[in-house]
Amino acid sequence: MEELNPYHIAQLQFDRAAERLRLERWLRDMLRVPDRTLSVEFPVKMDNGDIRMFTGYRVQHNNSRGPYKGGVRYSPEMNLDEVRALATWMTWKTAVVDIPFGGAKGGVVCDPSTLSQAELERITRRYTYEISDIIGPELDIPAPDVNTTPQMMAWMVDTYSMGKRHSEFGVATGKPTFLGGSHGRLEATGRGVALTAMNALADLKLNPQKVTAAVQGYGNVGSQAARSLREFGVKIVGVSDSSCALCDPEGLDLAEIDQHVAAHPRHLLENYTKALVLPERNELLEMECDLLVPAALENQLTAKNAGRVQAKLIVEGANGPTTPGADDIFQKRDILVVPDILANAGGVTVSYYEWVQNIQREQWSFREVVEKLDAKMNTSYAPVRDLARREGVDLRTAAYMIAIGRVAESTRTRGVFP
Ligand code: NAD
Repeated sequence: MEELNPYHIAQLQFDRAAERLRLERWLRDMLRVPDRTLSVEFPVKMDNGDIRMFTGYRVQHNNSRGPYKGGVRYSPEMNLDEVRALATWMTWKTAVVDIPFGGAKGGVVCDPSTLSQAELERITRRYTYEISDIIGPELDIPAPDVNTTPQMMAWMVDTYSMGKRHSEFGVATGKPTFLGGSHGRLEATGRGVALTAMNALADLKLNPQKVTAAVQGYGNVGSQAARSLREFGVKIVGVSDSSCALCDPEGLDLAEIDQHVAAHPRHLLENYTKALVLPERNELLEMECDLLVPAALENQLTAKNAGRVQAKLIVEGANGPTTPGADDIFQKRDILVVPDILANAGGVTVSYYEWVQNIQREQWSFREVVEKLDAKMNTSYAPVRDLARREGVDLRTAAYMIAIGRVAESTRTRGVFP
């Protein structure tokens, strides 16, 4: 049976790269586990007067290079190992694009589609209160992830600020732009995915104007990745979300799809009538296209379906969409995979810019942010590609080697307390 536990996968990916780096034993032991794991159980008053218990997590993996940083996810299936994996990947992500943050992740086990706005507000505020001792602008900075929004970041900031008796905008990123948020943050992850895809297409000598792409997950990351890819000339032939998968070999009309999603009560693709609907949602991963962008959840490309993928290039918008078993198959089949920690680092990069703006009490223009983001994504790609070629490894291992090398150097130089 293939290993699907994301934490074990994150550790396996770490071990592969640490072995190549011949990392010292003590650093391997230290960096393959999170620094701190907090699990909280808390009561929340529901709209009907009932009181329900919720479970929340915050995992801090490493802060050798700067404050812990990572999103907050709301999902009914979330468990501690998933949060541990996501926190670990954040450390490697901030290191591979060389921003001065560490890695963390958190979330609440809940299904937002069954909760009212008022209930979500009370859950978010109580969760923030429960973790408030270990977050802060210099300590650990949450951000939005799956099923969390700028509005929820505003509630987090407000709750944390009440405790401090002054406004602390730097405690979370991904806030609304009129409340300390950065221009370009909403677009950042998807745009970064598309920019990374452009770099990889150039390596494969493929002309974006002649490339077709399919995007799994039409949420924040996937929809923006699709729009940016379209802007760069790529034809989007398939998109999917939790409700269904749409395809059109002639190219989907994204503006019309966006209108449909905005009007849908749960912001989903279902009932869109101007494209073919694939019989099974996951058939999107195997459809005819040159570029595949998984931008939904973990473990979507596994040893089971990797042999049937038709794309020549996979650029990971989601965290952990590809299992190590699938990675091995893609390598044998000569399918290039650009790993999550590099490809989707645009989000945390602009989160860093947001935090800098908060600390400096500044607001940069959209253009300024996008120029900085584009430069960061473009300069982060080539060293990974060059190392992969030099070492004869896949891009994931190369990205890990660069990231682990940076974190290890900081840890060694700081030394061990006491
Ligand atoms: P989101 O909640 O905005 O969107 C998730 C999308 O995936 C939704 O459209 C949902 O319907 C869809 N989905 C869920 N299950 C699916 C399935 N089985 N098949 C197809 N679609 C499915 O979340 P997001 O913020 O876009 O995050 C998506 C991924 O990107 C996650 O792995 C997240 O950790 C990662 N990520 C997000 C950011 C960010 O800035 N938001 C940054 C880096 C990485």
